[in-house]
Amino acid sequence: MTKVPRAAPKTDVILNFISDVFIWNEPTNFGPRRPIAYHGFALPLPEKALISGVRRRVQPKPAVPSGIGDDCAVLRIPENHEMLVTTDFSLEGIHFRRDWHPAESVGHRCLARGLSDIAAMGGNPVAAFLSLALPPKLSQRWLDRFFDGLLKLAAEFNVTLAGGDTSQSPTAVLADIVVVGSVPKGNAVLRSGARPGDRIYVSGALGGSAAALDLLYSKRRKTLNTGLYPSLFFPTPQVKLGKILRQQSLATSMIDTSDGFSTDLAHICEESGVGARVAESSVPRAKIGPAARLRLVDLRFALHGGEDYQLLFTASSRQTVPPKIAGVDITEIGVITKRRDILLTHANLSQSKLKPLGWEHFGKY
Ligand SMILES: [Mg+2]
Repeated sequence: MTKVPRAAPKTDVILNFISDVFIWNEPTNFGPRRPIAYHGFALPLPEKALISGVRRRVQPKPAVPSGIGDDCAVLRIPENHEMLVTTDFSLEGIHFRRDWHPAESVGHRCLARGLSDIAAMGGNPVAAFLSLALPPKLSQRWLDRFFDGLLKLAAEFNVTLAGGDTSQSPTAVLADIVVVGSVPKGNAVLRSGARPGDRIYVSGALGGSAAALDLLYSKRRKTLNTGLYPSLFFPTPQVKLGKILRQQSLATSMIDTSDGFSTDLAHICEESGVGARVAESSVPRAKIGPAARLRLVDLRFALHGGEDYQLLFTASSRQTVPPKIAGVDITEIGVITKRRDILLTHANLSQSKLKPLGWEHFGKY
């Protein structure tokens, strides 16, 4: 087997989570690009082992008759269902830092972002696809732990990792996750269904993730105990809740709070062509910290902090929405209006505009 230099000019390496690597020629006028060489060791052996290791760890399931190891995955969508597809970047320095987020957390959050989008449509997650670009100096241990986090969450939600791609990046870990789900035909809960008079609800509590991240940004903490700040390190996508809201036809519109409540509500209002009034005192603020010193997060984190992965939805005022669904607290926080602005009503009943100031990740600091 001939060894081909990795940085050979005008070549690139394509790997579809199979153990073989092809070095491709550039496309020419004479037809599609064709492999000019083949060798099995273009990637470091540990990474090769990792991919076959990942393949072994993926549980087969009927919805994915063929996953890792072929040119494409084959997915089976139930009859009379439509497919949901979402894609999300997890970029080192933008969405996580290796000195702050343990590898398991990075893997978990990577998949949680996609699952949360499926939840926001009321869908059933089916399969995930992961594209990874890894710096040459990344340790095998880090990668193993990344997959521990990702595959644990995948098992919890019965999602199969059905394929992906790996490549090298200069210095940062870059991951892109695609999650595919299904939903009965015509039943996906869209952002565009909110109507004037509908009540606005949010699940769980808001701001926990951003407030914990602020402790790190502000350098008040060098690292955090992951167990004490689950919303930052191991958020739970609200798949079950989303499904119930769809099955019971409760939600007229829905979105997950990934960008920050103010920004996500603005998305619903924009797509639905409506406005909103939100009662500041009703916004459920997360409690963070050690059990003995739990404290409510600042309102700004609850209003604008992102990555809580809760569900923000609207329901007709004729519907009774229970205060708890699938074990998750549901809080009514406002009403949809015909007037197309978003106002926050303060405790003294004065009102101010709620600007979409969603969390801008790490770029802000
Ligand atoms: Mg989303």
